[in-house]
Amino acid sequence: MLQNQIAVVTGASRGIGRAIARRLASLGAHVVLCARHRQDLDRLAEELHSTGQKATVFPLDLTQATQVDALAQAVREQFQRCDIVVNNAGLGQLGPPLHQTSPQDWDRLMAVNLRGPFLMIRAFAPLMIERGSGHIINISSLAGHNPLKNGAAYAASKWGLNGLTYSVAEELRDHGIRVSVIAPGSVNTEFGGKTPANAGARLQPGDIADVVALLVQQRRQSFVSEVLMRPARKP
Ligand code: NAP
Repeated sequence: MLQNQIAVVTGASRGIGRAIARRLASLGAHVVLCARHRQDLDRLAEELHSTGQKATVFPLDLTQATQVDALAQAVREQFQRCDIVVNNAGLGQLGPPLHQTSPQDWDRLMAVNLRGPFLMIRAFAPLMIERGSGHIINISSLAGHNPLKNGAAYAASKWGLNGLTYSVAEELRDHGIRVSVIAPGSVNTEFGGKTPANAGARLQPGDIADVVALLVQQRRQSFVSEVLMRPARKP
C-alpha cells in the first residue's frame, strides 16, 4: 500500500492518467493531479475527497519549465517528499505524412511528449535523490517500438521517450530511484480528440493503471524497466 506516499500524475484529468490517479489514490497515496484545465482536475479531486482519498490539484502547462519547477517547489514545500511521478500527459497526432507536417505541429508534439517528461524529471529527481528513493513511470506507446505510418512525429516522440527512460534509469539507479516505461497499444480513450473505433476490444485505461500499481508496489530490490501491453485479442 502507498500510505504517506506522494504521487504526481500528469494528464490526470481524463483517459489513462485519470485511471492511474484513481488507482494510486485508492492504494493510499496522496495524488497531485496535473493538466492544463483546472475544472476537470477539480472534478476528479472532489470525487476522490468524497470517498476519503487524498488529492491536490495543480493545473499547469507541462511545456513551460517555470510552471513545472513551480509544481516541484510546491510539492517540496507542502510534502517535503515525492515518491512517484507518472509522466502520462501526451498529445496524439495521426496524419498527414511527415513531409506534410508543419514545424509548429512537430514542435508542439515534442514539447508535450518528450520535453515535458524531461522537465518533470529535471524538477523532481533532486527531491527523490535527497530521500534515496522514488519511482518515475513514463507512459510511452507501442508506437515507440514500431513504425507508425502517418504518425512519424508521434512515433519519434515515443521512441525518444523510451531512449530517455532507459538512459535516465541508469543515471538514477544508484540513487535508489527506479525509472520505468509502459508501452501500451491502442487504449480506449479520446486520445487525439477522437472517439475510438472498437472501443471494447482495446486496452482500457484501468489496464494501464493495474500495471502502474504493480510497478510501484514491487519489492525494493527488483526493478521492472519496461512493460509492453496489448489487448488479449487484436482489435
Ligand atoms: P488523453 O485522453 O488525450 O489525455 C491527455 C491528458 O494530457 C489530458 O489530461 C490533458 O489535459 C493532458 N495534457 C495535454 N497537454 C498537456 C500539457 N501541455 N500540459 C499538461 N497536461 C497536458 O490521452 P490518453 O489516451 O489518456 O493518453 C495518455 C498517454 O498515454 C499519452 O502519453 C499517450 O501518448 C499514451 N498512449 C495512449 C494510447 C491510446 O490509444 N490512448 C496508446 C498508447 C499510449 P489538458 O488538456 O487539460 O491539459
